[in-house]
Amino acid sequence: MANEQFDVTIIGAGPGGYVAAIRAAQLGLKVALVEKDKRLGGTCGLRGCIPTKQLLMSAHIYEQMQHAADFGVQASGIQLAFADVQKRKDKVVMKNAKGVEYLMKKNKVTVFKGTARLALPGKIEVTAEDGKKESVQTKNIILATGSVVRPIPGFETDGKQVVNSDHILELTDVPKSLIVMGCGAVGVEFASVYSRFGAETTVVELLPRLVPLEDEEVSKELEKSFRKRGIKSQVDTKLDKLEKTDKGVVVTGKTSKGEEVKLEAEMLLVAVGRMPYKEGLGLEGTKIKVEKGFIKTDEYQQTGEKGVYAIGDVVPTPLLAHLASKEGIVAVEHIAGKNPRPVNLRLVPSCTYCDPEVASVGLSEAKAREQGYDVKVGKFPFSASGKARIIGEEEGFVKVVSEKKYDEILGVHIIGPHATELIAEACVAMQLESTAEELGRTMHAHPTVSEAVMEAAEGVHDMTIHI
Ligand SMILES: Cc1cc2nc3c(=O)[nH]c(=O)nc-3n(C[C@H](O)[C@H](O)[C@H](O)COP(=O)(O)OP(=O)(O)OC[C@H]3O[C@@H](n4cnc5c(N)ncnc54)[C@H](O)[C@@H]3O)c2cc1C
Repeated sequence: MANEQFDVTIIGAGPGGYVAAIRAAQLGLKVALVEKDKRLGGTCGLRGCIPTKQLLMSAHIYEQMQHAADFGVQASGIQLAFADVQKRKDKVVMKNAKGVEYLMKKNKVTVFKGTARLALPGKIEVTAEDGKKESVQTKNIILATGSVVRPIPGFETDGKQVVNSDHILELTDVPKSLIVMGCGAVGVEFASVYSRFGAETTVVELLPRLVPLEDEEVSKELEKSFRKRGIKSQVDTKLDKLEKTDKGVVVTGKTSKGEEVKLEAEMLLVAVGRMPYKEGLGLEGTKIKVEKGFIKTDEYQQTGEKGVYAIGDVVPTPLLAHLASKEGIVAVEHIAGKNPRPVNLRLVPSCTYCDPEVASVGLSEAKAREQGYDVKVGKFPFSASGKARIIGEEEGFVKVVSEKKYDEILGVHIIGPHATELIAEACVAMQLESTAEELGRTMHAHPTVSEAVMEAAEGVHDMTIHI
């Protein structure tokens, strides 16, 4: 392969890198992909989206079965077989990684297993696990090296009493009690998993509300739902000290009002942030600019170095798999001279698969007002939805934020059943610059939970039928 010249070489086989590789191949480019992990799929496939959602699914089934009698189904002897939960998760992760491997073959992408280092211009050096080095000649490069857990001083993890999101995926037993530090998506998802598996769970958040990036009403509703499920929320609290004891951990801190907080549990999950990963990439001495650890790019994902692009968690846009993939597609279409439309960051859906689920796209009501819009809101509670009653999931609501002048939808916020699926229709509506009236007039099948989206849109004009 020494003299082979690739059109594009992608470093990192996460959802940014492998999707970019497939699209590049579809466009007729000669593609190489370098990955240092033994398996393909990146954080998303191996330590993120896929394994967490599998654990959430097992937790969901376990909980549903405990309430089977509510649906007239008598079930006894329901037990959690945690080792089997883990086996299933590992199986799905493996299948996914193999699926990516298959897609690379199908699309004739050459995969190099090893750690890549830039050797500009036009070259990448790949070091395999056994130390063997190989040089890859390439016209273009896409950096898709992702992110890793960010260490928090004073809250160093040990994989036992103090764990991060990588460790907690691999537990062999459910802890009796769990403190989750950080109430973004990762924190509240693990809280939803382990509380349903039986851990007495407390979530702690520095900011005044859970899922602080979501609409305020959604945060309030989630706190209420967590309370019902026995998950305690300690918001507005800065933890500043961790002590390990024979029984687990003791964490202490203060609320913003100065009240002392002391919490004890068998395990602490530190779910506070991730950082871009660039180790050993060889950016030093290049024209690639880095700001606050992230690689800077223009709207076509080009870095300061000609022919070098960056996508996904390593660039300063939200750390989400679907966004990484779309940025990868923009980068390769630009390389192929296709004049792509840059990613519209206003239309990035955000999904949290906690219980109940949370999903949103666009502006929150507060943000819309801050930006000077004359805001109109429509809201529909799942408690008024026939389908939500049927499935026994009546918590939450759909909220449509629009503006008065043109009736354009500015944001949609959902907490409740299948929120993470329902948000897709809001994404399409907003991509097509729909008005709230158009969304409300679109016929939705009955009985479905999606009717709640239609009714919330009708609510913008006070035309909701079922409330
Ligand atoms: C617990 C958890 C749950 C999550 N759940 C979701 C979710 O439900 N939905 C969602 O959208 N996002 C979720 N995310 C975020 C999502 O995983 C990331 O946004 C996504 O994986 C980023 O993709 P990426 O391709 O940029 O990088 P990554 O997926 O991190 O992939 C980067 C790859 O590059 C490789 N690499 C790095 N440096 C080199 C090098 N020098 N040479 C060769 N290879 C290299 C790495 O080994 C890695 O495989 C979750 C994250 C976590 C931690």
